[in-house]
Order: sequence, then C-alpha cells, then structure tokens
Amino acid sequence: MSALMDKLWAGKDSHPTKGAQYTDSRVAGKACYARDMTTISLFPTLIYAARLPAKGLGKFNAQLLRECRQLRADDTAGQRWSKKNYPGGFTSYNSACRMHTLSPTFAALERRVNRHVRRYAESLQLDLMDRELTMTDCWVNIMPKGVVHGLHLHPLSTISGTYYVQTPKGCSAIKFEDPRLDRFMAAPPRHADCDAENKPWYHVPAEAGKLVLFESWLRHEVAPNPVATERVSISFNYSWF
Ligand code: FE
Repeated sequence: MSALMDKLWAGKDSHPTKGAQYTDSRVAGKACYARDMTTISLFPTLIYAARLPAKGLGKFNAQLLRECRQLRADDTAGQRWSKKNYPGGFTSYNSACRMHTLSPTFAALERRVNRHVRRYAESLQLDLMDRELTMTDCWVNIMPKGVVHGLHLHPLSTISGTYYVQTPKGCSAIKFEDPRLDRFMAAPPRHADCDAENKPWYHVPAEAGKLVLFESWLRHEVAPNPVATERVSISFNYSWF
C-alpha cells in the first residue's frame, strides 16, 4: 500500500489491506469490500486563463495591433516563411521571434504576463530551484479569414501561451488535445456532456485582452478563422534552463 493510499485512507475506520470484511449499511447484513471507496484524480493538465486589467487596455491593444501590422509589412523574412508554412496568414515565429526585446510595447506585455506565469508555475507546484522562468520567444500571429494554425506543440520551452490582441466575433478558439489521446485505443467514447477534465479536446475561446498559458508539451491548434476580420494574437515561450 503506497504512502498516498495510506494517506487517503487515514482517518477512516477501515483499511483495505487489513483483511477485515466491511459491512455496507446500504446492503444490510452482506459483507462488502467497497465501503469507503475512493477515486483519486492524478496527472492533471492545467490550463491557465486570465484577463489583463481593464484600465488602459483598449489603448494598449490598439498599439500592439498597430505594431503587429507594421511588423507584417516590414518583416520580409517572416513574409517568406509564412507564405510557405502559414498560407494566407502572417507569423513572425521564424523571423522576429523575440519581439519583447525589440519593442517597448511588447516588453510591457512581457512584464504583464510575467506575474501570471509565476502564478501558473505555483499552481503547477514547480520547484524552480531559485531559477527564473524567463520569456525566451515572443512572436506575432495574424490569421485572416480561412487561415488555420495546425496542431503543434512548443519545443525547447517550459511554459507557453498566447495573448489575444484582436478577436472578431465568431473567430476560432484555441483547441487543446488530451496528451494521452494516442493511448486510448479501445476505450469507449465519453458522454457528450462529460466534465471538462474528461473531454478528449477542450476549446478556450479567444478574447482580446485575455491570455492563456499551458505547459509547452501540450498539443494545440486553431481551426480556420471563419470571419472576415483578422484574428491577431501574440504567442510566447518561457524557459527555465
Ligand atoms: Fe502554439
């Protein structure tokens, strides 16, 4: 019996390994081994979402949007890369990918995101051993109508996330995939209305002013943008090493 199970059973008047037969009051007179049955939830996948404070947010997002569009106009390497790898859209993922070091506006975003990353790391109970989680990459994504952001994860990183700058009504959410999906094999499907933690995929709506954080190994994608207005976001990686 593991220490964890011992702890779970602590305080209960019976113990599953002590050899006693337990009598369940619901089954009068019948011996039963299921009394005090416990189900524990292990290996969680935590996704963090938060809004930046509303004060001054409209102005801040407007400035970010201007700079995202300006970058698209100026970043010829990004244009070339996007043409091949992000058809119809623009991303500076492979070109201007450290925007927090190039623009004071993006540096301000980094400062705002930092506190959320710290809070998220606390909820993950990471032992950072006095080393900082620091933003290593920060890039722009612009998705006009029909542009898709295929399934991917963020290599060489610990925590990743996205901040939403412009999210027209009806634009696509970010979709996360259960990291154990390839192991389900013969498992039956879940009920359509099952709890969020039992769903094989989960959508977090994109909303301007909101940021979403996740562990970098978690696969995610964005379905084609169905609306005429561009969906604009800024993605980032935080590393610990
Ligand atoms: Fe991503």
